[in-house]
Amino acid sequence: MTDNNRPVLCAVIGRTRHKMMQIEIQEAAKRGAQLIELRLDFLAKAPDFKRLLAQRPCPMIASVRRPVDGGRFPGSEEERLMLLRQAVVAGFDWIDLETDVADQVRRYGNVKRIVSYHNMRQMPDDLEEIYERMCAQDADVVKIAVTAGQPSDNLRVLDLINKGRKPTVAHCMGDMGACSRVLSACYGSPFTYAAFNPERSFAPGMLSLDELRKTYHYEELDNKSKIFGVIGDPVGHSLSPLIHNQAFRKMNFNGVYLPFRVPRGELADFLKSFDSLGVRGYSVTIPHKESAARLATIRDPAVERIGAANTIIRMVDGWHAFNTDAQAAVESLKANLPVGPDGTPGQLQSRTVLLLGAGGVARALAHMLKENNVPLILANRTPERSQKLAEEVGCKVVDWAARHNVLCDTLVNCTSVGMHPNLDECPIHVSFLKPGLMIFDTVYTPETTMLIREAKERGCHVLTGVDMFVRQAGLQFKLFTGLEAPLELMEKLVRRALSPIAIKEEE
Ligand code: NAP
Repeated sequence: MTDNNRPVLCAVIGRTRHKMMQIEIQEAAKRGAQLIELRLDFLAKAPDFKRLLAQRPCPMIASVRRPVDGGRFPGSEEERLMLLRQAVVAGFDWIDLETDVADQVRRYGNVKRIVSYHNMRQMPDDLEEIYERMCAQDADVVKIAVTAGQPSDNLRVLDLINKGRKPTVAHCMGDMGACSRVLSACYGSPFTYAAFNPERSFAPGMLSLDELRKTYHYEELDNKSKIFGVIGDPVGHSLSPLIHNQAFRKMNFNGVYLPFRVPRGELADFLKSFDSLGVRGYSVTIPHKESAARLATIRDPAVERIGAANTIIRMVDGWHAFNTDAQAAVESLKANLPVGPDGTPGQLQSRTVLLLGAGGVARALAHMLKENNVPLILANRTPERSQKLAEEVGCKVVDWAARHNVLCDTLVNCTSVGMHPNLDECPIHVSFLKPGLMIFDTVYTPETTMLIREAKERGCHVLTGVDMFVRQAGLQFKLFTGLEAPLELMEKLVRRALSPIAIKEEE
């Protein structure tokens, strides 16, 4: 698509008014789009091609989508074909024609042709045959957009790009398909589609221009880019793609880190089917941490004890599992202990910790704290879980209702109480929060939870979950790349993404 064969971002623009389309065309080019698709089906009035094509900053594609293909064109098929022919003659650089009508619109002058197939419902069984037929049509680029029903559908579309007989743009729609939109760059796709305006969705799962440029560095990816990702469900709100991709760039590491939504119980199948992608390592999050530990051929001591992994790395003999949450949590605590009255650094083993929770993070912390000989008391809403954990690590346990009676100098919250969107919840009564008490809230969305806010107001020494989150990501980065992580950059990105404004925008 370009002279140097780098993948290109095609901004998709669809507005009801010509004036807004004209503004967005100029703005998209300023923000890095090298190709623009104008969705003429969005216009409220008949298109004024002269206006739309005046001062074009880059090549432009015309498309007029029917509702069945995810479009809005209200007229008849005859009217639509007429409009497409007019767009060709009016001077668009490219025309997008659906495979079933492509033969009805003749090639004209230098106008290039995209022959496209959309399936808004599913991945068709006969995708490969559909593609073969499309290659036989008069196309400069073949475009396939199908709806992923399972993670491995992404591999089928990437395979088309890879082995394609014609330049091919292919991706899966939906949140399960986001990875194929980015990975298409590594497989030689001439371009990928990006929403110019993140608030306007043109196809399910389409990433925004800014996301593809600034988070994924789409234009810099190639077939040598090493692939990493986060596996979870849900995974759409994970901050990991943002920080790992930016850290890769900062360290000049040719890698890409993607979100993979993998439903519960499907981890083993996912890893097997994605083997062909050669993914080097994954972050693992809910609900797959225990399965990841079980599936690994080698487990680090923390994984062995805790029974859960948050990182797996591909090695010649299979997946090696690590738990960077555990190490990060203890390092975070150690680095942030209050100094003694005489200025001596605080000692973790001289603290008495009340730990709330018995889920994944609580398990990681309980094991690490016991290993560091820290006196520990557990409390969890579901008593069976805390009792089991207390037996495993050899520590005291109290009923959830009795947690306020515990004498301790450090409180660690490993429950999800206070996490977005339940911002007005606190895992302990505020009367428990006395000056000098150390409060570590592992929740980091938001950073200032109700517990942290109340604790600060009452003179406690507070530590938020952001410090732990950045450390665990830094340790993962080292496992992924062998390089020291740019922790300052990672922390800055996390804080920016978690700022109240960013969270508001997300809602
Ligand atoms: P998890 O395995 O699902 O465990 C959740 C824990 O919260 C369980 O102990 C659960 O108690 C308790 N809980 C949930 N709702 C409660 C309620 N209304 N009242 C009392 N207890 C309640 O989750 P996880 O992976 O351990 O994660 C826990 C928290 O850690 C998350 O919210 C996340 O914000 C934070 N985290 C932080 C980092 C970091 O790097 N800072 C990393 C991962 C996670 P039951 O056993 O009774 O259900």
